[in-house]
Amino acid sequence: MSQSNRLRIAIQKSGRLSSESIALLKAIGIKLQIRDRLLIAHSTNQPIDLLRVRDDDIPGLIMDGVVDLGFIGENELEEKMLERRASKKAHEFKTLRRLDFGGCRLSIAVPTEFKYDSVASLNGKKVATTYPYLLERFFAEKGISAKAVMLTGSVEVAPRAGVADAICDLVSTGATLEANGLREEDEVFVSKAVLIQKSEDLSPDKQALITRLLPRIDGVLQAKE
Ligand code: ATP
Ligand code: ZN
Repeated sequence: MSQSNRLRIAIQKSGRLSSESIALLKAIGIKLQIRDRLLIAHSTNQPIDLLRVRDDDIPGLIMDGVVDLGFIGENELEEKMLERRASKKAHEFKTLRRLDFGGCRLSIAVPTEFKYDSVASLNGKKVATTYPYLLERFFAEKGISAKAVMLTGSVEVAPRAGVADAICDLVSTGATLEANGLREEDEVFVSKAVLIQKSEDLSPDKQALITRLLPRIDGVLQAKE
């Protein structure tokens, strides 16, 4: 495979991180023409290509060294890192900056009728989640023996469907939990979007470009403080 000399940046194609990732790239002077259906977008004024993918794929693309930089939520990044470490796959990356968007928390929530005194109330219970590695690490730290049940979607209906006793899901306002008769109880992980880089060395040109871009990102972040 030919190694492009253009810096490759992975961003979420469409979702909660997309518009702010693009806005940040534009704010630091990278001109982009994004056409909705296309996987790749080229910058017109910098040697930069964007790869627009599902956010779930971004940690693996970085850890396999397929892209140079990526914008990703720490929740997804840490989960994939734990999963890949457990299956002995490459799981290295560098965090360049913690960003000011994508804020959310991974929390345990229970049906309103569930009597929850502390996380120990989950002993022997099943907890539905999209983040089994983060949840199991939390249980291990707290000495809880509960089972994480993996669901990639509709986590919040699992208790009503009789699939689990509780859930562990991403929350920002809590409105979705309330709408599903659930009450937030414990925080498992607090997350923001981060800019990450693959761990292998980049060509001097690419690294020099990143070194020029980072102070601009800092400037944008400071201006918004
Ligand atoms: P994709 O189709 O790319 O897989 P998705 O449905 O997995 O999309 P989104 O819902 O767009 O992902 O969320 C992407 C990321 O946004 C989350 O992993 C998290 O880091 C962040 N985020 C911020 N607030 C929330 C929230 N309230 N609920 C879910 N994710 C949030
Ligand atoms: Zn996703």
